[in-house]
Amino acid sequence: KAKQNGSNTYCFFDRGLADQSLYKFELENDLRNSVQNGGLMVYYQPKYDVEKRRIIGAEALARWNRKGQGAVPPDVFIPVAEEANLIVPLERVIIEKVFGDIAAWKRRGLETMRTSINISTIHFYQDDFFKYMKDSLKRHSLKGEFIEIEVTESIMIKNERLINEQLQALRKIGVEVSIDDFGTGYSSLSYLSKMSVDRLKIDRSFIEKSHENSEIISTIISMANNLKLKVIAEGVETEGQIELLKAFGCNEMQGYYYSPPIPAKEFEKILENEEAVFA
Ligand code: C2E
Ligand code: MG
Ligand code: MG
Ligand code: MG
Repeated sequence: KAKQNGSNTYCFFDRGLADQSLYKFELENDLRNSVQNGGLMVYYQPKYDVEKRRIIGAEALARWNRKGQGAVPPDVFIPVAEEANLIVPLERVIIEKVFGDIAAWKRRGLETMRTSINISTIHFYQDDFFKYMKDSLKRHSLKGEFIEIEVTESIMIKNERLINEQLQALRKIGVEVSIDDFGTGYSSLSYLSKMSVDRLKIDRSFIEKSHENSEIISTIISMANNLKLKVIAEGVETEGQIELLKAFGCNEMQGYYYSPPIPAKEFEKILENEEAVFA
């Protein structure tokens, strides 16, 4: 009967608590190992300005190939890193790689634009975060103008003053601050006038069903305009979405329509052929 137990049959493991914690333990261990031994990668997803018809930058996204198991998505390993006290070293590995890549592009004479890096709220509780960023930029001879950080609304929940001071210090050296996944958090809107930010990034869930959500999208865009904030849409996949966003005055876009996240080498090729790509 073994044959009938083929690919159509599901096996239900009775995974007890002990098994689950062993699984988690191994996952954490493998991740720690990769953080310490160069096992993480960065992919870049271009961002476009549809009005200027050009690339305006990219978002750096962490990638992890777990030994023997293939790619683990960041939605899985980032929360693990946050729980296991690994998020600060992990993000510093990513920051180091991104700065290194930008410095290399600059040396090759490629037009260097702003690259954004996702920063966990937990990283902000590390009070040397600003100093780390400033020193790393200096080490790579980069100006803050090359960098943007993407934070989520959860950053507004506690330690407001400490966090705002770090955001202000970063913006003072030219780094831009964007609120990622905007519209999905639970924080009150009043933080927007108090916190030092540059841009709202409209969450992919709104863009996905852009016609259903057109009032929400247009409201976020006008709110950004009223607050003198920039605005970008993530998860853009169709021409219909682009038309709708353009009609509401949002010109910055990112999504599979333009490009998925790609390895640094491929992104470099896009930079080299920017005119051709966007003609
Ligand atoms: P995010 O920062 O909101 O990044 C956007 C996610 O949407 C990325 O998933 C990207 O690949 C995906 N995406 C982009 N365009 C499209 C599209 O048109 N359609 C669809 N369906 N998806 C699109 P990814 O790379 O799997 O990352 C997931 C999340 O993991 C990120 O969401 C971010 O919150 C987190 N993450 C990734 N790298 C880091 C990191 O270095 N630090 C922190 N704290 N979080 C990270
Ligand atoms: Mg992001
Ligand atoms: Mg996002
Ligand atoms: Mg998102």
